[in-house]
Amino acid sequence: MRLARGHVLIGINDEAILAGARDVEAALRGALADSGLAEEIEIIETGDLGATGQGVVLSMYPDGVIYAGVGVADVAEIVSEHLLKGRPVERLRVQGATAPSGATRKQPRIVLENCGIIDPHSLEQAIGVGAYSGIAKIIEEAISPPDVVGIVKASGLRGRGGAGFPTGLKWSFTAKDEQVYIICNADEGEPGTFKDRLILEGDPHRLIEGMMIAGYAVNASKGYVYVRGEYALSIERMQTAIDAAREAGLLGDNILESDFSFDIEIKKGAGAYVCGEETSLIESIEGKRGYPRLKPPYPGAVGLWNKPTVVNNVETLANVPPILVNGPEWFRSYGTEKCPGTKVFTILGHVEKPGLVEAEMGTSLQTIIDIYGGGVKDGKAFKGALIGGAAGAFVCPECLDKPMDFEGLQELSAVLGSGAILVFNEDASIVEMLDGILAFFKHESCGQCAPCRGGTLALKTIMERIRGGQGKAQDLDKMVEVAAAMQATSLCPLGQSVILPITSALQNFRAEFEALVN
Ligand code: SF4
Repeated sequence: MRLARGHVLIGINDEAILAGARDVEAALRGALADSGLAEEIEIIETGDLGATGQGVVLSMYPDGVIYAGVGVADVAEIVSEHLLKGRPVERLRVQGATAPSGATRKQPRIVLENCGIIDPHSLEQAIGVGAYSGIAKIIEEAISPPDVVGIVKASGLRGRGGAGFPTGLKWSFTAKDEQVYIICNADEGEPGTFKDRLILEGDPHRLIEGMMIAGYAVNASKGYVYVRGEYALSIERMQTAIDAAREAGLLGDNILESDFSFDIEIKKGAGAYVCGEETSLIESIEGKRGYPRLKPPYPGAVGLWNKPTVVNNVETLANVPPILVNGPEWFRSYGTEKCPGTKVFTILGHVEKPGLVEAEMGTSLQTIIDIYGGGVKDGKAFKGALIGGAAGAFVCPECLDKPMDFEGLQELSAVLGSGAILVFNEDASIVEMLDGILAFFKHESCGQCAPCRGGTLALKTIMERIRGGQGKAQDLDKMVEVAAAMQATSLCPLGQSVILPITSALQNFRAEFEALVN
């Protein structure tokens, strides 16, 4: 091992690769060798920092300077000016920030703390920043499984996949059996959302440890990561991390010389939105078509291969190791009383700096848009936002001061969902946006139950009629009626949740629809 004077961190994800990150990296290695700096400066591939649309991003350490939009042609200048003479290349520099989002320094990063900082291929680097200390503490201090559940319960951690169900409670409901399973739901299907991908690609050992702790708590010896098949880089990095952990005795039999044995396997999904629902995901892992099951029984009692199964989202599990290390009170020092901790939000749409941010639960929508997202693009007025993904709610400017957490959004009849915030400016058409959502639901309905199969088709037909100028005033109420019937009778959350975007759009932006039907 050598000690380098400085490090150049290059964020490698699919977007960066398309923008030429591999060529930039090769040019950088060549330029360092030519300048005699190859031994002094180390290049480290990392996950990304959460910004989008920035091309190739370099983080220079120890200076903390960030360069964005770097091309091969810029490499010689970065080496000769910055690395040899200590003069940052101002034209490429992200001004006044330590990250391209412009706000990383202000973000209270728990879940993403290592993303973009460590090499996700390196177990040593992960351990260097504390990976596996949570499970090591449990084993060294012989903390019993019920006590681990108690710690997570006391932390107030709630599932980050959408529903916000208390994680410790979910674990405590899991039936006892000789075989229990943990499933990490990494089937990130919400349009525009990529927070789970960032964790999988930037800090896979965090996820492995979260699954191990969950496994220990519910006496499971086997875990599955159900990940979108399209996430090739995530799968590769996760598999590399699993192999390295297994090789080091951190996965497998008698972990850290204890009685605890646990292993993880990756299962690839085929990209169906409905497979994000826990029972259809279980069906899919079992090799069947991803149809949701009737509930009850819930997976905690009858899950994978009819055995008790805990299904937790990536972000939820990534919160678990630091809770075990730092204690529930530390976790509760972030966020609100009823929703402690942070949330990774995906900011999309008409903002200056789209991307991922980690903010405390309860942060206002205004702060997320203005501070983290850089404000509405091109100085236009804020018209509203769709919060929580396709099955989320449209909110209007009056909601800007509302806290973004499970409770605060419930008061607005909205949901936090996956944490996606699609911002739109004064020029956006809510009618068009709702039409896009209904098209999405019609496409993604698995067709198993009639209310959803027929309802999504009916809603899309009505919407097309309205957009085409042939709609009638009654059509607006008809849409709500159909969606309400779907909510009452559909089998799974896909069919049950179409009502939210419809009612919120009509409640907050009714005039736009009425202008078309009148
Ligand atoms: Fe399939 Fe829709 Fe029924 Fe869910 S509600 S099972 S997606 S048809």
